[in-house]
Amino acid sequence: MDIYEKIVELLKRRGFLWSSFEIYGGVRGFVTYGPLGAELKHRIEEKWREWFVYKQGFVEIESPIIMPEVVFKASGHLDHFTDPIVECLNCKRKFRADHIIEEATGMVMEGLSPKEIEEIIKKENIRCPECKGRLGQVNVFNLMFKTTIGPYSENRGYARPEAAQGMFVEFKRVFTAMREKLPLGIAQIGKVLRNEISPRKGLIRLREFTIMEVEVFVDPEDLSCPRLSEVEDEELRLITAEMRARNEEKPLVVTAREAVEKGYISAEWQAYFMVISKYFLSSLGIPWERQRFKEQMPWEKAHYSKQTFDHEVYLERFGWVEVAGHAYRTDYDLKRHMEHSKVDLTVFKRYKEPRIVEKVIVKPLEDVIKTDFGDNASKIIRLLKNIDPRELKNSFEREGCYEFNGNRIEPRHVKIEVKKEKITGRRFIPHVFEPSFGADRLVYATLECSYSVKENRVILKLPRDLAPIQVAVFPLVNKNGLPDIARDIWNMLKEEGIRATYDDSGSIGRRYARADEIGIPIAITVDYQTPKDNTVTLRDRDTWKQVRTPVDKLLNSLLDYFKGKKNFDELGIYQE
Ligand code: AMP
Repeated sequence: MDIYEKIVELLKRRGFLWSSFEIYGGVRGFVTYGPLGAELKHRIEEKWREWFVYKQGFVEIESPIIMPEVVFKASGHLDHFTDPIVECLNCKRKFRADHIIEEATGMVMEGLSPKEIEEIIKKENIRCPECKGRLGQVNVFNLMFKTTIGPYSENRGYARPEAAQGMFVEFKRVFTAMREKLPLGIAQIGKVLRNEISPRKGLIRLREFTIMEVEVFVDPEDLSCPRLSEVEDEELRLITAEMRARNEEKPLVVTAREAVEKGYISAEWQAYFMVISKYFLSSLGIPWERQRFKEQMPWEKAHYSKQTFDHEVYLERFGWVEVAGHAYRTDYDLKRHMEHSKVDLTVFKRYKEPRIVEKVIVKPLEDVIKTDFGDNASKIIRLLKNIDPRELKNSFEREGCYEFNGNRIEPRHVKIEVKKEKITGRRFIPHVFEPSFGADRLVYATLECSYSVKENRVILKLPRDLAPIQVAVFPLVNKNGLPDIARDIWNMLKEEGIRATYDDSGSIGRRYARADEIGIPIAITVDYQTPKDNTVTLRDRDTWKQVRTPVDKLLNSLLDYFKGKKNFDELGIYQE
């Protein structure tokens, strides 16, 4: 069994998570988080909030999962959110065409059209991986789940494949509520759905998963990130698109500031979030050696992105896996929603001092136009009222006239005035930087990085603040009143908000092993000495060291320990 299989077995057996709908044979791409898994996932989400919402002063929203078709028409997902698909002519199973080639030949299919992929399948004589049958035509498959909203079949809706569109569609309201200030970071954690063609990688490729996204809206004339200076010396490990083109796999190690100055990363905000991303993953116990940032090649990038870096984690079975994308989405989304909704999504920014500008105004001379153009006059007057004055002026200067549908408009048809105007600010569409994380991939990466074996026993060395259960309380034996004392301690800890469990079945060794296996950082044992002097032993999951501490001090010590203010050794007096 490789580590993946061992982890999957543990997760199922101990109730972290498993494939959904088991009693009906299961459906690929869906998982159910059980008691321990749901808690672990919440803790990871909470950590993300700490790093990407609270510490940044951003705000979080919760918008619907189902959205009307127009949203995805505007966002481009209806046209672009596709994968190549191929069907086996014999068994009729369907596969991701590019993945099938990759698996059969090791060739990475990037930026190829369905026709080109089909030709490679033919040339390499690639067959169905299930029945060895011949493969048919390669088509494109849109990954969005489709539904109808209400009882009208024409009222089409789609499940969102990313949370981001919620932030764009609701941008105006949030911007107003937050007193119209930029930069504005809007975050969201929520379920998204992608109808993946053939998901076969557990938590790595799901059809329903949780995304944690921030959209930071900034002024395109000021793309500087005010907080980059706080982290600019932090090192990043990059594989740029240029390096990839040269097949260079060894990452370049540069500081965040250098990466921007040398142009590897296109904007300060990107570099800043990549550092925060590194901190966040490190807080999940994912070592820095197992992290890197890989720039997407032009053909890999989503349709909205100017530059994207994937934050990747090394996993034993799957190799380097993307857990987050850092994209510079420019003004693409807001612009598209403006075009489709006809609602003004620009923002107004006041200048420090008002500015005086010259404004050119075109006034059509209606009497002259009517005399010269007869029936066409009204059309020409309308045109002149809406025309860009510079375009008209330029044409007059160049050609002596302006041609419109065969009509020759001359300077004598208009009066051009130049007026001075006081301008107090400017309107623009904000640009957007987006760090986007998949929570479920991080759950797996966290578990793999915390999985360890000591003396043939599994220890899940989860960071203490991620552990689904923080402490286990055990009576040493089931007699002499020890269970009652242990239960009182358990109840007291629960009351105070500590996630505690109680276990009195089996030998103490077996109970410690059960606790280690699910990552409980501290086990508290009530033993024969407890009734005598009101002290208990605390056992550390990772070192198996024990200290003795008075019950009166227990709560505060534990609270300090879980806040990271104390180490285990500081919780009591060391015991052999
Ligand atoms: P993307 O918008 O494709 O860059 O996805 C954002 C993040 O969601 C990725 O970095 C992954 O962590 C995660 N993700 C994407 N697709 C899946 C999937 N099918 N199953 C689980 N997580 C996913």
